[in-house]
Amino acid sequence: MKNYFKILMAFVLVAIAFFACSNDDNSGNDGDGVTTNQAPSSFAVSVTSITETTASINWTEATDADGDTVTYTVTLQGSELASSLSVLTLDVTALTPSTNYSGTVVSSDGNGGSSSAPFSFSTASTTSSLHLAFAEFDTDNTDIMLSGSNVVIESNGLPNHTSPYWSNTTERTAVDPMGNTLVTPAAAVNHPLFVEPTVTSYEMMAPGNIDDFVGSYTLTVSANPQLAATSTSTGLGPIGIAVSGSMIYNDEEGPNIPLNSAVGSLDYTAAHTGPQSYHYHLETKAWSNDDDALIGIIADGFFLYGRKCNSNNDYPTDLDVSGGHTSTTQHSEGASEYHYHIQNEPFLNQFYILFPGDYQGTPSNIQ
Ligand SMILES: [Zn+2]
Ligand SMILES: [Zn+2]
Repeated sequence: MKNYFKILMAFVLVAIAFFACSNDDNSGNDGDGVTTNQAPSSFAVSVTSITETTASINWTEATDADGDTVTYTVTLQGSELASSLSVLTLDVTALTPSTNYSGTVVSSDGNGGSSSAPFSFSTASTTSSLHLAFAEFDTDNTDIMLSGSNVVIESNGLPNHTSPYWSNTTERTAVDPMGNTLVTPAAAVNHPLFVEPTVTSYEMMAPGNIDDFVGSYTLTVSANPQLAATSTSTGLGPIGIAVSGSMIYNDEEGPNIPLNSAVGSLDYTAAHTGPQSYHYHLETKAWSNDDDALIGIIADGFFLYGRKCNSNNDYPTDLDVSGGHTSTTQHSEGASEYHYHIQNEPFLNQFYILFPGDYQGTPSNIQ
């Protein structure tokens, strides 16, 4: 009887030990009453928003049939970047341009179960391509090229659209601020892009025709312009180059001469000649009228768009004092970047100033 009890007790102890052990055994087999942990499901990784130095690693959710909480560890080039992530994305910075990267995302259920998915990508080259916006510039009038980390924009200054300021068969006279009479002689034939003045008149037009000015303009800006610590006011003369090829001016006509006094000489696209080449002061109706069209590039390297923004198909509401803000554009491939807009505040009840300043970046001279 005593022996029988001992044997029974031993059996019970063995049974308890076995049961306890099997509870801890996460890799146990089915079929013998053992609890089995299942690893998280397989998942997929994609890499997006790749620039010269940054990328966004994104993955689909690895589901866990046991309902365990799944976390993720991301490894890049053999080094662990982050672990215990509960989100499905990781932004990576400080990458090297033109470099191939590979890594792995590993899911873990906290019970020893895991699944993994590899990924690879290449960072952009610093000199691989021009910003998409440059494709909008007139290819006859402008020449745009990369030079190291800079972009060089050359233009002949001529517009690619019609204007009453192209040479024409009507002689006109104008009186300059010093009282001198300036004669713009009649040409033998009208230039093919000449149109009769509508908004202005021969009596109001400034002296000189578009094709009287023979020259070139060059602007060199960073291919990756940055906001400056302090802004810089704009001056007289060219402050930007429009997509048409002609120059962008600010809202002053000359030293201490407000634009108001010269508005009558502006053609239908708010441009005129003199004292230098044909240039725009106000919304360029030839290709932008209350829309998000690209107007041109400002001398600090930031692009100037129409009164509306592509990011919300409406007037932007978060513009700084220069008409700038950071958002996506139709040329930014989903990235947010700083750019200017024509400010949606009427000037003389009917016009919209292109760019009064200040430059929020670091301006270069247009030579
Ligand atoms: Zn002017
Ligand atoms: Zn915008």
